[in-house]
Amino acid sequence: MGRAFGYVILGGGVAAGYAALEFVRHLDGGGASPGELCIISDEAVAPYERPALSKGYLLPRGAARLPGFHTCAGANDELLTEQWYKDHGIELVLGTRVVSADVRRKTLLTITGETISYKTLIVATGARALKLDEFGVHGSGAANMCYLRSLEDADKMVGVMRSCHGGNAVVIGGGYIGMECAAALVANEIKVTMVFPGKHCMDRFFTPKIAEFYENYYAAKGVTFIKGARVTSFEALSDGKVAAAILRDGRRLPADMVVVGIGARANTALFDGQLAMEKGGIRVNGRMQTSDAAVYAVGDVAAFPVALLGGDVRRFEHVDCARRTARRAVAAILEPADGAAEVGKNDSDYLPFFYSRVFALSWQFYGDNVGEPVHFGDFSPPGAGGRPKFGACWVSDGLVAGVFLEGGSQEENEAVASAVRCGARIGDLAAELESRGLALPGQE
Ligand code: FAD
Repeated sequence: MGRAFGYVILGGGVAAGYAALEFVRHLDGGGASPGELCIISDEAVAPYERPALSKGYLLPRGAARLPGFHTCAGANDELLTEQWYKDHGIELVLGTRVVSADVRRKTLLTITGETISYKTLIVATGARALKLDEFGVHGSGAANMCYLRSLEDADKMVGVMRSCHGGNAVVIGGGYIGMECAAALVANEIKVTMVFPGKHCMDRFFTPKIAEFYENYYAAKGVTFIKGARVTSFEALSDGKVAAAILRDGRRLPADMVVVGIGARANTALFDGQLAMEKGGIRVNGRMQTSDAAVYAVGDVAAFPVALLGGDVRRFEHVDCARRTARRAVAAILEPADGAAEVGKNDSDYLPFFYSRVFALSWQFYGDNVGEPVHFGDFSPPGAGGRPKFGACWVSDGLVAGVFLEGGSQEENEAVASAVRCGARIGDLAAELESRGLALPGQE
């Protein structure tokens, strides 16, 4: 049994949704014809804005729910419900895992035994949450242990939180998933202890000074930090739940629930040995084309050359990257002669961008955190109702390589983004910031 399509998007996450919209905008007649375009996803719902899972979805009141955050709501663009795909002739094959791929034959085999063939394939398989079991710590299947990657995970977490009101949660991992989940747990009136091996939260990205601000802010909300520590086992109950997390030094942390956010891995396995790989992902050129001319890769799974970073090949697990690379791939497929379709050309250069929102805080980061960080603004705890505003810029050879800004207005965020994009000299950014009341120490 089998079906054939002109274009197949493998994966039904953020990148798939943005790619679908881009196809519709490019295709004659404003939609696909039968057999032209299909999306295969092992998730049960149409593509949605994944960042909503750790933000609006976990709120105790007024929580985000589908269809409200289907793509492309996050870019204030059309909301692509299942009906939208039907209306535009796009076949959505949901709840269906692809178990093998053959790029030579241009076929995908699904878990139901169906063979789907393509002329052009866009791989948008994203990433998966790393499991503690992969590090020899067992218990991931426990009824009160949560990971957060999919809607299914988020539904489990909402259910577990409801049953733990007033109880204790142990959050394992100090990255953005751990930080955002900890904030959500506090909002749900659950006491949080965060455990991670680093010296401070977000240690691959935050400077110690930035981390200190957030840790103090969280501590004021009742969150306890246990740093430089690892969970090595769990105390299990007979009902399939864990009762406590045990640290390497023997400490026992009672837990009504556990949330694990210890990183992610790109879903590349289907293409191992078939496509060139780099940086833990599928290597593509500036047009998002892999080592096989009929296969493109976008989003978390794609490693591509970034002109702004000197052509360095990078892979980003950022929603903005998923949106932009998806649009680039579709433009490159449908307008092959259009040089502007390349990620890494003139004004379409990709500028790495990541953001997070927790409690009343909101930060954005643009560029690369290489070179020396120079802090600016006021790092003191905000008074009641006050909004902090501070940041850091990373300076390399006198040029601004990256900027982190907490509490920036849209206009300020755009100003720092443009300073990074055009490789401003630090003095110019200092003048720009100063005109907005943010003094950069040590700059004339
Ligand atoms: P995904 O959105 O992960 O989609 C991949 C899709 O492929 C999924 O539907 C998956 O089920 C499917 N799939 C995989 N393998 C198969 C297979 N074999 N067969 C069928 N289907 C398959 N980024 C930010 O910049 N800011 C944020 O604040 C932010 N918050 C986040 C919060 C959470 C909880 C998470 C999990 C991520 C967050 N991110 C954030 C990262 C962002 O969501 C990702 O970068 C983005 O989703 C990547 O899009 P993608 O389409 O490449 O992958």
